Amino acid sequence: MKTDTIAAIATALSDAGIGIIRVSGDEAIQIVHKIYQNKNNQYVLLDYQSHTIHYGFIVEKNGDLIDEVMVSVMKAPHSYTTEDTVEINCHGGALMMKKILMTVIEAGARLAQPGEFTKRAFLNGRMDLSRAEAVMDMIHAKNQFALRSSIKQLRGSVFDKIKLLRKEILYEIAFIESALDDPEHISLDGYQKKLSDQVCNLVKELERLLDSADNGKVLKEGIRTVIVGKPNVGKSSLLNLLVGQDRAIVTEVAGTTRDTLEETVNLGEFTLHMIDTAGIRNTEDVVEKIGIEKTKIISEDADLILYVMDSSIPLDENDVDIVRMIKDKKTIILLNKSDLDEVVDQSSVDALFSDVFEKKCSVYELSETETEQQEDVSENICMIRISAKENDGLDLLVDLLKKMFFHGLISYEDEVCITNSRHKEALLEALESMKQVQISLENDMPEDFYSIDLMNAYASLGKIIGEEVGDDLVNEIFSKFCMGK
Ligand code: GDP
Repeated sequence: MKTDTIAAIATALSDAGIGIIRVSGDEAIQIVHKIYQNKNNQYVLLDYQSHTIHYGFIVEKNGDLIDEVMVSVMKAPHSYTTEDTVEINCHGGALMMKKILMTVIEAGARLAQPGEFTKRAFLNGRMDLSRAEAVMDMIHAKNQFALRSSIKQLRGSVFDKIKLLRKEILYEIAFIESALDDPEHISLDGYQKKLSDQVCNLVKELERLLDSADNGKVLKEGIRTVIVGKPNVGKSSLLNLLVGQDRAIVTEVAGTTRDTLEETVNLGEFTLHMIDTAGIRNTEDVVEKIGIEKTKIISEDADLILYVMDSSIPLDENDVDIVRMIKDKKTIILLNKSDLDEVVDQSSVDALFSDVFEKKCSVYELSETETEQQEDVSENICMIRISAKENDGLDLLVDLLKKMFFHGLISYEDEVCITNSRHKEALLEALESMKQVQISLENDMPEDFYSIDLMNAYASLGKIIGEEVGDDLVNEIFSKFCMGK
């Protein structure tokens, strides 16, 4: 199939050491040939071998020099797009790159759309959709976790897993269909039990992948973290400590942090989008009340709540309100001011939670000796003693985050982790269809019922790797890519 030739600036449009203009398509080599000269002023690009790089110049039609460049030639099918591709490495500078791009376009290429190079790689069968999406994830990665999971996805971790699941489903569909076509030779006797076992396994696999999706997305995009607590307990001090600069104003007067402040903090594997809130306190002050309302709303969408308490002052009814507000959110209690005499201890915190939830609640206190253990902390309310003033206890916080968010992903090094919400949706659809098969089995429905739902599950999984997607979705996915990718 003949393709038109596209061109785009592939590097950032700002001053830099080099810039790259990428050209791909049937005419890529002929087009750049018209505007490239070697050091002896000869037009020789057509003579170059594939996968070679050459020194020379980009020139205008009248022979005027534009820039000194290195040009690499990659012939089909061994290129990113599988098409003939030329990359012009010029001096990095917005004006220079634009000028060269215009020259390439005047010579016969057209401007690429965002993501069009990768879209071509996908449409030409070089990579499936999950790998193409991994390319974009890698570019946008904000932390180590995101980077690692997208590299794994690019190497085919999601593709391989989905392919395997689809193969197993297809086997059952094929078996049912052949048995229905040829009942004399293929018997369905006892098949229901076998199918039921297989469906049960597939449901478990899908649920595992979906489990990974919950944490995977949060870890990739950053944990939306809300700091709550009464005024003066040390919320701003904690935020400042995490951010490493005096971003919030710390004062001795209760209620000075009026509105919310947001900061992004990278803690090793984690990115925390920290939201500091106005101190929560029953108040007549209108400005402060707005802050409190805002806290309640923000806390509802939070992935994690850091509830700061002042261990030197007794808990009171405001703490009861806070506990009611955070309800079943993933919460870490930071018992701050551990450098002062302690008034609030673990039993008072236990009692607070038990009162509000009207059942015995025990607060899990992480101490330094326990950091190596792998308890399941996800179901517990966890507490750490810290001193924001003396910078004490923050390493425990990082340990606890690991336990909470890598839970279920403990061996995430080897496991497939779903980080893309489109994949998650498709997995949910597949799970729904597989559960429908289970219902049909329980109700002893005719075999073609199973095969319809198995087909649906097969199709839903196909969406992840791009086998069952329409042009509209493909266009939408790639339109979110960067220019030149
Ligand atoms: P916020 O209103 O919750 O944001 O509290 P701030 O961060 O403004 O802190 C209130 C006061 O508590 C300030 O004077 C801080 O210096 C002090 N403070 C914060 N953390 C600690 C701590 O760990 N130990 C002690 N002794 N004082 C602290």
